[in-house]
Amino acid sequence: MKVTGDQALVKKINKSIVLHTIRRHSPLSRAKVSEMTGLNKATVSNLVAELCTQELVTEVGPGESSGGRKPLMLHFNTMAGSVIGIELRVKQLTAVLCDLSGGILYESDFSLENHDFPYVLEQMKKLISGLIINAPESPYGIVGIGVGVPGMVDENGVVLFAPNLGWEMVELRVILEAQFSVPVTIDNEANAGAQGELNFGAAREVRHLLYISAGSGIGSGIIIGGELYKGARGYAGETGHMTIEAQGKPCSCGSRGCWELYASEKTYDNPDLSLPAHTTPELVRYAASGQEDALHHFSTMGEYLGIGVTNLINSFNPELIVIGGALSEAEEWLGEPLRRVVAERTLPYHKQQLEITFSKLGSRGTMIGAGFSAVMHFLGDIRVTL
Ligand SMILES: [Zn+2]
Repeated sequence: MKVTGDQALVKKINKSIVLHTIRRHSPLSRAKVSEMTGLNKATVSNLVAELCTQELVTEVGPGESSGGRKPLMLHFNTMAGSVIGIELRVKQLTAVLCDLSGGILYESDFSLENHDFPYVLEQMKKLISGLIINAPESPYGIVGIGVGVPGMVDENGVVLFAPNLGWEMVELRVILEAQFSVPVTIDNEANAGAQGELNFGAAREVRHLLYISAGSGIGSGIIIGGELYKGARGYAGETGHMTIEAQGKPCSCGSRGCWELYASEKTYDNPDLSLPAHTTPELVRYAASGQEDALHHFSTMGEYLGIGVTNLINSFNPELIVIGGALSEAEEWLGEPLRRVVAERTLPYHKQQLEITFSKLGSRGTMIGAGFSAVMHFLGDIRVTL
């Protein structure tokens, strides 16, 4: 196969490689960048000079010398701009203002009374406007907005279907871009959460990750070989709707016995149970005080989580499972039954080098990950497949 590319494209690719190497590993000397990227020193110097002019890279020095003149160290300028990351949950909107490395500068949230799109959009605009006012002075200002939503999203930022919100075909990206005049990225919340863990949380340097977002429903962000797996049309990861009870309860998706009916916050609404509360933060408080029904409920949920996780481990052979979302706050009570069921049921080969952990970012993973998508969009994350 013959591959051609003009010089401008090659330069763009090299510049992106240099920028992302500095972003991920700074502080670095020019010599180290050259060594890590395989680009010659003159090329690295030219590209670094451009990145410094663009204020995306700064020089601070001098660093440690291996003999000879001490080198200036290159840093990614995390304050070149800021991004807004938002998570749309069933009962709440949460938002963060982040620097370009996911550092939280400001945080705010709003409780939703319903899911009518005009109402949710109005609250979202208010939250975004409030964060924009708080953004620090920077060369590029607000460079993007990322939103994580509990539903299926296509490549144009259209929310195709969000059963827990009752939304279909909502052109969220177009609407927000028209309002705020900055690039907007829309991601499925579990995919955003997986990106958050991969870049800033429990899963740095992990190649094969399953991120399970367990909250008002269950969704999964699947990372295979370091890349997010989206499926043929972008809808992969709807694991909350895999059947775990053949003749189980009917689900809003049209099937029955779906995993999320047994292992998410949906279980709180079962009238046959005598639960003392119907939200995770409240049940966590009850469990912490030893309340029997809360303890029993978390134990049962943990076992059901373990059953679904077992199916996923047997399917994907991941190195790491991260449990994120609202239920990650109940790790103390879910962790033991979940791990016990996985240990009992998973095929023996998979248990080697498999770790199950709860999110390091807690319930913030999705909005930080959504903000990260906006950062990547701004930096022009170039992927070239030859
Ligand atoms: Zn279902």
